Amino acid sequence: MALLEQFGGSGQQLPARRAHIGAGVSSGRVQAAAAPYGLTGLPGSSPVVSVPGVALGGGLSWFGRAYGWVADSVSAFDLVDADGHQRHVTAGIDPDLFWALRGAGGDFAIVTGLELTLHDAPRLYGGRMVWTAEHAPEVMDAYRQITATAPDELTVWLDLLHFPGFDPMVAVDATYLGGAEQARDLLAPLDRLPRPLSDGRRVMAVSELGTITAEPTDPGPGLSRGELLTDLDDVAAKTLLADPIAPLLSVQIRHLGGAFARPSDSPHGPLAEPYALYLFGVPTDPATARAIADKQRALAGALPVSGRKPLTFLNPGETAADAFTSTTLSRLRAVKRRRDPRNTFRSNFPVGG
Ligand SMILES: Cc1cc2nc3c(=O)[nH]c(=O)nc-3n(C[C@H](O)[C@H](O)[C@H](O)COP(=O)(O)OP(=O)(O)OC[C@H]3O[C@@H](n4cnc5c(N)ncnc54)[C@H](O)[C@@H]3O)c2cc1C
Repeated sequence: MALLEQFGGSGQQLPARRAHIGAGVSSGRVQAAAAPYGLTGLPGSSPVVSVPGVALGGGLSWFGRAYGWVADSVSAFDLVDADGHQRHVTAGIDPDLFWALRGAGGDFAIVTGLELTLHDAPRLYGGRMVWTAEHAPEVMDAYRQITATAPDELTVWLDLLHFPGFDPMVAVDATYLGGAEQARDLLAPLDRLPRPLSDGRRVMAVSELGTITAEPTDPGPGLSRGELLTDLDDVAAKTLLADPIAPLLSVQIRHLGGAFARPSDSPHGPLAEPYALYLFGVPTDPATARAIADKQRALAGALPVSGRKPLTFLNPGETAADAFTSTTLSRLRAVKRRRDPRNTFRSNFPVGG
């Protein structure tokens, strides 16, 4: 669990700008340790999620449009293999296993640590804007306009929200790797919309990123469904807004593209899909759980989904077959047969045999 603070530039064993991160170390701890060196990892929406857990699933970061999958920044894994041997795995030492670990999860080994290439800590501008749901069509239009021409430094997500006890809302979350002025120019379509209920956009530190979506940091029940959208055209936008999202609490669209669409030596590889979709509800009782699953199924069925999903967005019961193409799955299964023929590691999203 230890985060070994071995950042380059002060004579440690690791090359410059690399951190060795123990299993279970949270994204927030990595950010806190990297910040004094003017460096950053690739944070997702929440600081409490473990970096190895995210990287083993590929990992969608706020900075992914600029730097790719979190796993693209992993240069080595330390692990215990199916025979109980400790091993150090890099692209040079064991290219197949290294590739499989960069996105296909924990089905191949117990990872005890990994080596992560850090990036220059950016100037950062970001935050959440919230409107009442009646403005959702205009907000959706502005969102599509912004994402159609967004540079890789800009990442914008759209959220339809319906929290118990509150009116339905629509929110836009944004981060920009650069100055406030350029960010405001790029986000100008949002400023032409009706006055929001709140506007949290500001210059911020990387360590403050978790405040944008303010996800719960304690464990809680949740029923989610992830998808990848091949398009967010007029029909898809209309479908998303046609009915109230209840019994879901949130429907989130994450803009992908940029470096996600470029070559990646990882099981996900380049993503052609321009958006990810995340449908979330809280199953307070069995009837609500069924209603949530029905709503998720109906929305996914009506939208242009590609059929594959990011591994980190999978749910219990889904498998690696829900995340990868058949060619990738065959290669993963070959790695599994060679490295773990007795299926010692099996409580994950299995790649199958
Ligand atoms: C609040 C919240 C926000 C999130 N935001 C994002 C986001 O922005 N981007 C994104 O991509 N994902 C996101 N996720 C999903 C998250 O990346 C996955 O749930 C991830 O698997 C969590 O890893 P963990 O180690 O914290 O959880 P765990 O439940 O401990 O691990 C989940 C799985 O990862 C594998 N695993 C973890 N550690 C090891 C290890 N040391 N060795 C072998 N296998 C291991 C195993 O298969 C394990 O079953 C979020 C999740 C939450 C709860």
